[in-house]
Amino acid sequence: MTITYEIKDNLYVNVTNQCSNACDFCVRNLKDAFQNNLWLEREPTLEEIIKDIFSRDLSKYKELVFCGFGEPLERLDTVLEVCKKVKEKTHMNIRINTNGQANKIHNYDVTPRFKSLIDSISVSLNARNAKEYDKICHSRFGEEAFDDLLDFTKKSKKYVEHVQLSVVDCLPPQHIQQCKKIADSIGVNLKIRKEIK
Ligand code: SF4
Repeated sequence: MTITYEIKDNLYVNVTNQCSNACDFCVRNLKDAFQNNLWLEREPTLEEIIKDIFSRDLSKYKELVFCGFGEPLERLDTVLEVCKKVKEKTHMNIRINTNGQANKIHNYDVTPRFKSLIDSISVSLNARNAKEYDKICHSRFGEEAFDDLLDFTKKSKKYVEHVQLSVVDCLPPQHIQQCKKIADSIGVNLKIRKEIK
């Protein structure tokens, strides 16, 4: 079971396969994504995650990033407990890559809980409007997911220093321009990330 893995200077943490989306471009749809087996046969416990992280030489990494074959904030309590331990013992920056649906998943505003634990949040925007988002991301919350992820992004800014939206580079340039306008309108950067094929 792969709980942590390295990409460049960062250590990534894989905590769940659950996700409220079923995106067409998700790496979960690929057979040998990252040439790692990130599909978890079961979810690792809090203790297993902490043990795995601290078995690494953490001084080597710039960031600890929660991102795997699922939505990390599906396991909100576990992720925040891990962050707490890491913050107690290291000076590492912590980033969450998320679909931005945590408030909807847990049915309350979870963002105040990020304070002092999470340094960066990257929210996948993926589309320029709710209809197109639903068409490619297939959230279990339907078209509402799009406005909710924008609201989550805005709320996160109060508690997290670096918050950004992201899109994959396979979108038409005009769509990317419109996504940039959305990001500007809520005062965050838009990151254009490479599609994994
Ligand atoms: S939000 Fe991320 S993990 Fe979930 S289906 Fe989409 S790409 Fe996959």
